[in-house]
Amino acid sequence: MQNSELSSSCFHCGLPVPDDARFEVVINEKTRPMCCPGCEAVAKAIVDSGNSRFYDMREDKQATAIPLIPEFLQQTAVYDHPDIQKSFVNHNGEVSEASLILEGISCAACIWLNEQHIAQLPGVLSVNINYSNHRATVRWDNDSIKLSEILQAIAAIGYQAHPYSPERQQEVFEAERRTQLKRLGIAGLFGMQVMMIAIALYAGDFSGMELEYESFLNKVSWLLATPIVFYSAVPLFRSAWRDLSQFSVGMDVPVALGITIAYSASIYAIIKGEGYVYFDSVAMFVFLLLGSRYFELIARKKGVEAAEKLMQMQPATATRIVDSEHQVIPVVELNQNDTIMVKAGETLPADGYIVEGGSSVDESLLTGEFDPVTKVVGDKVIAGSVNVESPLIVCVSNVGTETIMAGILRLLDNAQNDKPPITLLADRAARYFVFGVLIIAAAVAMYWSNAAPDFWLPITLSVLVVSCPCALSLATPAAISAASTHLLQIGLLVTRGRAIEALAAADLFAFDKTGTLTKGKPVVDRVENLSSENETQLLQLAAALERYSEHPIAKAIQQNVSMGKIDLTEVVNIPGQGVHAVWQGNQVAIGSRKFIKDLFALDVDDQGANGTEVLLADKSRLLARFTLRDVVRSGAQALLNDLTDKQVDIALLTGDNAASAQKIADELKISKLFTEMSPEDKLKQLQAFQQQGRRVVMVGDGINDAPVLAGADVSIAMGNASELLHLGSDMVLLNENLQSLNRGVKISTKTLKIIRQNITWAIGYNLVALPLAVSGNLSPWMAALGMSLSSLLVVANALRLSPQKTHKLG
Ligand code: ADP
Ligand code: MG
Repeated sequence: MQNSELSSSCFHCGLPVPDDARFEVVINEKTRPMCCPGCEAVAKAIVDSGNSRFYDMREDKQATAIPLIPEFLQQTAVYDHPDIQKSFVNHNGEVSEASLILEGISCAACIWLNEQHIAQLPGVLSVNINYSNHRATVRWDNDSIKLSEILQAIAAIGYQAHPYSPERQQEVFEAERRTQLKRLGIAGLFGMQVMMIAIALYAGDFSGMELEYESFLNKVSWLLATPIVFYSAVPLFRSAWRDLSQFSVGMDVPVALGITIAYSASIYAIIKGEGYVYFDSVAMFVFLLLGSRYFELIARKKGVEAAEKLMQMQPATATRIVDSEHQVIPVVELNQNDTIMVKAGETLPADGYIVEGGSSVDESLLTGEFDPVTKVVGDKVIAGSVNVESPLIVCVSNVGTETIMAGILRLLDNAQNDKPPITLLADRAARYFVFGVLIIAAAVAMYWSNAAPDFWLPITLSVLVVSCPCALSLATPAAISAASTHLLQIGLLVTRGRAIEALAAADLFAFDKTGTLTKGKPVVDRVENLSSENETQLLQLAAALERYSEHPIAKAIQQNVSMGKIDLTEVVNIPGQGVHAVWQGNQVAIGSRKFIKDLFALDVDDQGANGTEVLLADKSRLLARFTLRDVVRSGAQALLNDLTDKQVDIALLTGDNAASAQKIADELKISKLFTEMSPEDKLKQLQAFQQQGRRVVMVGDGINDAPVLAGADVSIAMGNASELLHLGSDMVLLNENLQSLNRGVKISTKTLKIIRQNITWAIGYNLVALPLAVSGNLSPWMAALGMSLSSLLVVANALRLSPQKTHKLG
């Protein structure tokens, strides 16, 4: 593609320029078209900093801009520009958070190195690198450090970081896959020849091959093995070198050492004309190791495919309406309060609410629920969902990193990065392990060079290669990553990876009632006027009080009541209990029986209410009684049955009155029932359970139950998507169906099993393999095979947790 000012592609990034875009930059005295303000700003920065030559070099090489930007960016601050940060940086006061793609990661050790390195930069608050997609989430304090400085620091240790974008990630992945495949191919091709020769030589050993002929074949092997060492094995050497230059011993150090020793000892033997050659072992190591890394790359990718797809759902353009004119603009240019049009079949580019039109929307990617949801004017719609039926006009409320989908993905990323204690232990063990292996190898070399001088080299090689801490360090993250992606697909968002294990190990599930076991959409069944007041006015008073509450009951009471002129002062909303205020100089309140009783010291008798009871009262008397009805959520019974089958205890903690709660408890056959509890009571009860040694899962609605949720071993919030970002819980149920939670428990149980298998396998393998190698019972090729298979097996085992078939995605 030759760039010219007439071309309709962006001079900077090569993407098409939208018809109505008017972005230009003068580069080398020519006006060049740009597709968006982002490219315009980058290009301007390049020109202004005197680096226009960048574009000449690029033209000479006919390369696109994209691969060259990072190099340049190492010396510039363009990524600190607010316009450019808009699409990938999330700001919260002075704290910023961004997703970066890391290039050049080859194994778990690189991830560790990067984490250590970035975390120690002054001003960086936290850093997490996702093992599966090499995405780093960095949080930093804007006052102390700039993003560009972080990018430079990463470059300084030999990696490259770019702002995250799905296309970019795909490109990086493809490029990585292609190079790995090429290296593997070369190793395979030449390795095969080396092996043939080795077989011929072994056969010759027995049949008495002529010395001259043997020496010729050895030299040919040397020739053939050379590209394997100097091309295919480069990543192994590079990563070993990187570790050593950071004064640490990573997992590739023993392997690189093994290859170097075998290769040089063989050359020495050829030149000296005595001793053995090991080119076949070298070829085998490299081929098997690269082969297992290649499959690991593919497997890793597969494990997070669903989440990646979600990310790619973001459309590239949006239709903005300005003065009844439709403009197609890149999504990054959307702003809050823009009005956009979303046609049927299109994906929503941002969060917002409908201002015109009505349709049904498929939110399955976010909730795991496949039935489209009907939406009318005033309803919220979320980015990433698909408009199914008819066009919608939407007022944008959140864009870019602020959308609910972006929030979900951020939480998911954090969960996948979360290192349960067992992983931390494995990581630490892995580091000592490598060190130990090097020492053992040295001892082995010394011992065998006396005991059997002919064999010290192959035995030492086997020792260096056979041990594999990779399997150990992959055991948990591979499983957590695959499982959390699967869980998201069924509508259960995991925000802390360790919660998956904890969920599987829990022995008591405590449920809240309203909004958790029940749908949380109660309707008022009956209103009794207990005073001589005008009923309409009482209803209006109740509705006025409830305007201050978020509780589902509050919504039910406000329904169908026309707002009167009721002026309230000193309003206090007590979550999970009710609301009180001053009206016409008197204190009035609405809430549970216990709440009213405690507040006004009124003697309220138990009516054995036939549903959830809410009382309206003033200081001296009861004014009205509301009885509400709510239905049990679908999937509740199945969930409780399956938990009971698993020998897990079930408790119901509710603020509701005994009679109403008993009805639900009977219906669902729950024996441990605790009623009329305030949120604090619930927390106390939960702690009492914990003191009995129970590991408690609390399932509650996010707003009212925040304290209990916070106290539980695992907290699961019923998420109404719009609140989910503020809920600090370990997991969020994104849809209405408790069946998802039921499936989630099963997936967690399976995950725990797989993690245990993986760790047992990884430790067991090393315990068996190392002594075999040390005692000279493993030939180098067996060692190489064993090591490669051991980490492949761990990853393959974890992949059993991936969703079976990704339906409807993409
Ligand atoms: P649950 O524990 O079953 O989810 P909550 O703790 O949310 O129930 O609420 C307990 C009780 O407190 C309700 O049954 C109701 O009587 C009363 N209550 C809580 N909030 C309100 C409110 N905003 N208006 C009226 N009553 C309320
Ligand atoms: Mg509740």
